[in-house]
Amino acid sequence: MPSQTVYYIEGDGIGPEVSAAARPVLDEAVRVAYSGDRELEWRELLAGEKAYSETGAYLPEETLNKLRHEADVALKGPLTTPVGAGFRSLNVALRQIFDLYACIRPVRYFQGIQTPVKRPEDVDIVVFRENTEDVYAGIEWAAGSPEARGLIEFMRERYQTEVDPESAIGIKPITEAGSKRLVRRAIRFALQQKRPSVTLMHKGNIMKFTEGAFCSWGFELAREEFGDSCVSEDKARDKDEDRLLIKDRIADNMFQQVLTRPSEYSVLATTNLNGDYISDALAAQVGGLGLAPGANVGDDLAVFEATHGSVPKRAGTDSANPSSLILSGALMLEHLGWHEASTAIHRALERTIHKGRVTYDLARLMDNSETVGCREFAELIAENME
Ligand code: NAD
Repeated sequence: MPSQTVYYIEGDGIGPEVSAAARPVLDEAVRVAYSGDRELEWRELLAGEKAYSETGAYLPEETLNKLRHEADVALKGPLTTPVGAGFRSLNVALRQIFDLYACIRPVRYFQGIQTPVKRPEDVDIVVFRENTEDVYAGIEWAAGSPEARGLIEFMRERYQTEVDPESAIGIKPITEAGSKRLVRRAIRFALQQKRPSVTLMHKGNIMKFTEGAFCSWGFELAREEFGDSCVSEDKARDKDEDRLLIKDRIADNMFQQVLTRPSEYSVLATTNLNGDYISDALAAQVGGLGLAPGANVGDDLAVFEATHGSVPKRAGTDSANPSSLILSGALMLEHLGWHEASTAIHRALERTIHKGRVTYDLARLMDNSETVGCREFAELIAENME
C-alpha cells in the first residue's frame, strides 16, 4: 500500500491539542478518498518547549537532521516566540535553515460564518509571502549596543548619513534572486490554477531600493520568463484579456482594496513583513485565524503550518479551532498530489460548519450554533467525511 511519511511537530500552547485533533482527520480523509489503498505514516519531531524539556535544546540537532535528510513534508504546530528579548523565532529559523522561501496562504470563505465584511464570498485570495529575507532576516541591534553605535558611526563617516546615535538598528535585505523565485512560484501557481491575476504588493514609493526593487524584479521576471502567458495591467488591451494579468499595488492601498474590492484580487506576491500582515487581515475578513492554513515551501522540503500562533491563554483548555492545521494538512495532501483527500477535507469542513456545532471562535460568528471543544470538532469533521 502506498504510504507517505509525514514528520510532525506538535508545537507549543494549543499546538499539542490541535495537532492531536488534526492527524486523525487527515488519516480519515486519505482512507475515505482512496478506500484504504493509501496511508500516512506519522513520525514526531521535537521542537519548542517540549524539545527543551526533553533534550535541553529548542531545536534539537536530531530534528534538523531528519528534516534535512529524510523528510519531504512536515506538519508543524505553532511555536511560541518571546517578544523583545529571549531566543529568536524558531518558526523563522526553520524557514531560513531549510530555505523554505515561499510562504503560501490561501484565504477562502466558508458559508454560514458572519464576518466583518458584507460579501466575504468574494474573498478567494492566495498570498505568496517571501519567507527568508526582509526585516525577518533577524539582523538587528539594540539601541545603545556597540554594534548599533558602530554601524551608525560607520554610516556617518563613510556615507555622510545621519542617524540618531541612540537608535536601534534593523537591516532589510531584499535580493533579486529571492524576489524572483517567489514571484516565479506565484505566477506558475496562477497559470496552473487558471487564476486571472497576480498582484505584486509592495511599499516601493517609500522603500525604493528594497520594496520598489521587489516590484520591478517581479515585472521583469514576468516579462522574461512568462512573456507569452502574462501581461502587465497597463498593457492589457481589453477586459477580455485571457493572459494572466500582472498588477502591482502599494501596500497600504492593498489593505483597503482587499476590503472594498476583493474580487479583483486572486494571487498576491509580496515581501516578508507585508505578507505577514496581509495574511492575518485577510483571515479576519473570512472569519478569523481559526480557518487560515499555510505552507512554507522550498525546493526540497515543505513545512505546512497554520497562520495562527500558539494562543498561550487557551493552552490545555481543549477549545481552540483545529481547522487551520487541518486545512494546512489539506494543502500538504495537494502538494503530494493527493487531491481527492484534500477535497474530502474541504467538503467535510463545509458540512460540519453548516451543521452548526463548532469551536468557540466560529460559534461567536454564527447564529444558532453550539460550541464544542477542539477534539470534538475534529471528530465531527472526520464523521462528515464522504
Ligand atoms: P495567535 O495567533 O497565537 O493568537 C491571536 C488570537 O487569534 C488569539 O487570541 C485567538 O483569539 C485567535 N486564534 C488564533 N488561533 C486560533 C485558533 N486555532 N482557534 C481559535 N482562536 C484562535 O497570535 P499571538 O497571540 O500574536 O502569538 C502567540 C504566540 O504564537 C507568540 O509567541 C508568537 O510568536 C507565536 N506565533 C507563532 C507562529 C507560528 O508558529 N508560525 C505564528 C504566529 C505567532
